[in-house]
Amino acid sequence: MERIASEGDRPVIAIVGGGASGLVAAIAAAQTWRAMGRERLREAQAGGQEPERIPAPEILVLEKDERVGRSILATGNGRCNFFNARPSEGNYRSPKLVEEAFWAIELHRRSIPCMEKGDSAIENFFASLGLCWKEDEEGRCWPATNKASTVLDLLRTGCNANGAQERCDCQVERIERIPNNNRFALHITDGRIVHADAVVVATGGGLGKGMLPPEVRTAPFQPLLCPLAVEESWVRSLENIRVRAEVRLERTGEVLKRQQGEVQFRKFGVSGIAVFNLSREARVGDALVLDLLPHMCECDAVPFLNRRLKMMRSALGCTPTVEETLSGLVLPRIGEIVADHAGLDIHRPMQKDNTALLVPALKNIRLTVKGTAGNVSHQIMRGGIAADQLSPHTMQIEGVPGLFAAGEAVDVDADCGGFNLRWTWTSGYLAGANAAMMVAGQGVEFCDYHS
Ligand SMILES: Cc1cc2nc3c(=O)[nH]c(=O)nc-3n(C[C@H](O)[C@H](O)[C@H](O)COP(=O)(O)OP(=O)(O)OC[C@H]3O[C@@H](n4cnc5c(N)ncnc54)[C@H](O)[C@@H]3O)c2cc1C
Repeated sequence: MERIASEGDRPVIAIVGGGASGLVAAIAAAQTWRAMGRERLREAQAGGQEPERIPAPEILVLEKDERVGRSILATGNGRCNFFNARPSEGNYRSPKLVEEAFWAIELHRRSIPCMEKGDSAIENFFASLGLCWKEDEEGRCWPATNKASTVLDLLRTGCNANGAQERCDCQVERIERIPNNNRFALHITDGRIVHADAVVVATGGGLGKGMLPPEVRTAPFQPLLCPLAVEESWVRSLENIRVRAEVRLERTGEVLKRQQGEVQFRKFGVSGIAVFNLSREARVGDALVLDLLPHMCECDAVPFLNRRLKMMRSALGCTPTVEETLSGLVLPRIGEIVADHAGLDIHRPMQKDNTALLVPALKNIRLTVKGTAGNVSHQIMRGGIAADQLSPHTMQIEGVPGLFAAGEAVDVDADCGGFNLRWTWTSGYLAGANAAMMVAGQGVEFCDYHS
């Protein structure tokens, strides 16, 4: 059977998972090694000495799939919303870890070539790989080509050029700490074993049970950023209809979160980005309230509809029906539901006092959450390695020196909009860079940010 590592005298950095965080970790490890080499050379020359020669590490990306980066291709509907330039604490679970990591990566400027002053380290990282992108008004960034494959191609080029090696069809079953040796034995499902000096866990939501040393605390995985199933059976009749709305998530009358965007009705409930974001907070029994006129308060909406009714009467020469009144405002099948909620016969002529009944129906379509529908489709998994066991500056796991983690394998998740990938690249970079520093003998300290 083919060897995975050369098993020579070079140290080995093993990255488990060749997805978004794993590929960045591989590049970061190589770039950091080179930057350290440059510094050593400068220092040695300044002291008039020969620099100490340390063999460069073998950087291995172990991927269970037959190719790396398949997960990247699926992002942003194949366009990859790879970054959000305006993150806030509210976008993330485990915000303290994320905030500190976003700060810590800015300290890695020595290895990330700076293209544009003022841009974040991750923007500079991608710019230095050659990526061009456009940013929308909400800070969401997309590759200029509109293709997720561009992001993957550039990352693979970055890995290859920096000497990182892809090892596909290579599923890691177990990461074992070798006693008294500060090394790891990675057990591959086909029976092979890879020995490594540092390991980055970058398996995403695919982190298997029993894969990590027992000291590592993990939370069970739960699919999120997914559609929500609802109690109301009338949604079935609207299957695949899309509306633009504000959706409020309410629990016992209190509004927990609001999201505006497209809502798609499904047989079992509702989907769309607004709903995906609410799925991060929703619990069984919560109310989802759809507002089809989010830019107007009720007190403005009633006179607005009355003015429209008056104009329609004059233009048509007769009083329009409820159906006709609604037909320019919402799709016909949505109009039926709204009229039904307002207690109006859709075929009857519209009366002026009917507007006071229609407006609450347009602004408060109530649904009851039955659960998340992550089995249908989900974008992320909540759960994984406990955030409070990670050093936010290095991504090293407390109590297991040499073991680092990044991306979705860590119990961090965020709203849609490029926030998840921003965390993924950042944590991947920190993990890879610090793995290289550790292998070079530069101490990687655990920093307790909770104190
Ligand atoms: C449909 C969809 C669309 C999305 N769109 C966006 C978006 O536009 N913007 C955004 O910010 N986020 C988006 N996300 C989320 C984003 O894809 C994830 O946050 C990100 O991919 C996580 O990166 P990761 O490296 O942690 O895991 P992944 O990218 O999932 O990579 C993990 C890799 O590890 C491999 N692996 C797993 N177990 C093992 C093992 N035991 N041994 C070896 N290899 C293993 C897997 O095969 C995989 O290649 C989307 C997600 C989905 C599903």
